[in-house]
Amino acid sequence: MDLYEYQARELFAAHGVPVIAAYTADTPDEAATAAERINGMCVVKAQVKTGGRGKAGGVKLAKTVDEARARATDILGMDIKGHTVRRVLVTGAVDIAREFYVSFLLDRANRAYLAMASVEGGMDIEEVARTKPEALARIRVDAIEGVTPAKAAEIAATANFPEELRPAIAEVLQKLWRVLVAEDATLVEVNPLVLTEQGDVLAIDGKVTLDDNARFRHPHHEAFVDRAATDPIELRAKELDLNYVKLDGSVGIIGNGAGLVMSTLDVVAYAGEEFGGVKPANFLDIGGGASAQVMANGLDIVLNDPDVKAVFVNVFGGITACDAVANGIIQAIALLESRGEPVTKPLVCRIDGNNAVEGRRILDESGLAIVERVETMDEAARRVAQLAAGA
Ligand code: GDP
Ligand code: MN
Repeated sequence: MDLYEYQARELFAAHGVPVIAAYTADTPDEAATAAERINGMCVVKAQVKTGGRGKAGGVKLAKTVDEARARATDILGMDIKGHTVRRVLVTGAVDIAREFYVSFLLDRANRAYLAMASVEGGMDIEEVARTKPEALARIRVDAIEGVTPAKAAEIAATANFPEELRPAIAEVLQKLWRVLVAEDATLVEVNPLVLTEQGDVLAIDGKVTLDDNARFRHPHHEAFVDRAATDPIELRAKELDLNYVKLDGSVGIIGNGAGLVMSTLDVVAYAGEEFGGVKPANFLDIGGGASAQVMANGLDIVLNDPDVKAVFVNVFGGITACDAVANGIIQAIALLESRGEPVTKPLVCRIDGNNAVEGRRILDESGLAIVERVETMDEAARRVAQLAAGA
């Protein structure tokens, strides 16, 4: 999960990374109140999960409370690279002498972390990386050793930070590393890390990506989830512990195993070309040992998507044998019916693998008119695309 700047700033503050006073605001009046609390010059900043806000006009200086209100009026509702601004962060303004760049990120290929640092920070670090790669220091960080005082000093020296600033920079680097470790982040980035005219080192902008696999260890991260920006069906699927992603087509997909579901998406999209571009409506992997209950939850999610016209259940029996899967499908339909949600959309099922013959017999003899069993994956994809197209 990527965080908004104001959320990253919260984590920075919690671990001692130096930040300036700031308040979020969802309306121009709230921005004015925030500016009053800051009591002086402030910066009004668009909160969107994309970079380059400054260049897009989403970061503006305000000298007075009225100016803060006016800048918030300009910025709220603005579109930045396809992201609508719904909230601003009002921060204290500082006199910037120099802008630097520092980050830590997970380096999967090298089974380590990577520290990056540059004395040429600010708005154009991507440009620096492209045109002057030597100006962006890259230092391997061992996952077990982490950022020791010696490692922090090495990073500050390799990036050529001014001699007299290195102790302060190294201090910030160690705290930033603590954010990454303590919060289970895969990326922490500060751009710019500034030196003020008064000689302080401050994180002016922050980017943090949290590792969702570690979410269970951080109950307080739940509050970072942006419910308003998440698809409501995806939210419900998450509550049911299902691996679901909403797509923009009309064929509901349920399968077991991520690989099988991915290839199901491909064959459905391919078969759908014949019917005017019918496409998958979702990705849903119900996993290896999917019980009737899980199948019912999956069907429930997929059938409740108004975009879905027909459903493709593609299961390869393994740990859970096909007869159990077939019974699961039948029980799931009965369960939904008993909840007052009778299934009316056609279900095309292809089941193969462990105990397939018995599983097919069970489906064939179920007497369910909406269930159509098809032998192969390709045929099933074609049939479901045809049904979704109403052809
Ligand atoms: P980004 O464009 O999305 O990366 O947004 P940033 O938060 O990094 O802000 C962009 C630029 O605005 C920074 O690189 C600074 O040059 C400038 N800026 C941000 N806050 C202040 C401030 O308090 N004072 C001054 N003078 N400039 C600021
Ligand atoms: Mn920035």
